[in-house]
Amino acid sequence: MKERGSLFVLDELERLQNEIAVSISQAATEKELSEIRVKVLGKKGTLTQLLKRLGTLPEKDRKEIGKKANQVKESTEARIEEALFLLSERERKEALEREKIDVTLPGRRIPVGKRHPLTQTLDQIIDIFSRLGFEVVEGPEVELDYYNFEALNIPKGHPAREMQATFFISEDVVLRTHTSPVQVRTMEKKQPPVRVICPGAVYRCDSDPTHSPMFHQVEGLLVDKGITFADLKGVLTVFVHQMFGKETKLRFRPSFFPFTEPSAEIDIECFICNGKGCGVCSQTGWLEILGSGMVDPAVYKFVNYDPEEVTGFAFGMGIERIAMLKYGIHDIRLFFTNDLRFLKQF
Ligand SMILES: [Zn+2]
Repeated sequence: MKERGSLFVLDELERLQNEIAVSISQAATEKELSEIRVKVLGKKGTLTQLLKRLGTLPEKDRKEIGKKANQVKESTEARIEEALFLLSERERKEALEREKIDVTLPGRRIPVGKRHPLTQTLDQIIDIFSRLGFEVVEGPEVELDYYNFEALNIPKGHPAREMQATFFISEDVVLRTHTSPVQVRTMEKKQPPVRVICPGAVYRCDSDPTHSPMFHQVEGLLVDKGITFADLKGVLTVFVHQMFGKETKLRFRPSFFPFTEPSAEIDIECFICNGKGCGVCSQTGWLEILGSGMVDPAVYKFVNYDPEEVTGFAFGMGIERIAMLKYGIHDIRLFFTNDLRFLKQF
């Protein structure tokens, strides 16, 4: 027969074992499990407290009670170990699930920009003339009146100045109205042969659907011994055929520019109506694309070339106009509003 005290401790151990089993099975985290360990097996833990009473119990019951207590201790530790293992397994699986990489998913695309339609057009023009041996030169956009007008045979008060509505910075300084001053600057520095094209922005007080106060030109100049109008026709015919297609019909129409004599404008057959006449070509069947002419001998005097020795031709075109014709764009302002819906089409 056991003492009442011994029976009580044995009951308590039994109850504790069940209680521990329940709370371990309910623990959801490592932290909760380690709290249970402290609560049961720690210095002030329930099992430790219970064992302190061992000394007060009869000698004969101690062995059995000690054995039971050991069993509770061992089973508690085993259960906690097992729970910890299951917990880490679960976490590992969850992490794998979370970090799963689907290698078949398409990558994130970096949007790639495109070149502006004007740049594309200019690049094409430069490409054609480069292959014909022309070199690209550039000059200032804020220009002296001298280079913009006077050295191009347009003295102050000349009616030709009216053809180009000019932004004046001061009496002698302007925003260049064409890229022709670059040709004068080139000839000042270099003796013939000269074979250059000058692309760049130009400025005129003008604004409507086909005119912009700032637009772009490419002008070209070829000066050498024995250059004739036939060379002009040959070079510009090659250009038109490469730019607009081999089948493009073109015509040279007499015109006037103060710095060339004789002068001609080049028209191509309207590709919208095939020459029959429509709104785009103002019912003429032709579209004007560039101006040209043999360099006026008067211009050579400004750059110390001998007009008896050398001859040459010059030409110029608006890049916007070429691009508008090439791509069927009706409003020049679209080039400068940076609307991506427009720009992405090219
Ligand atoms: Zn037409």
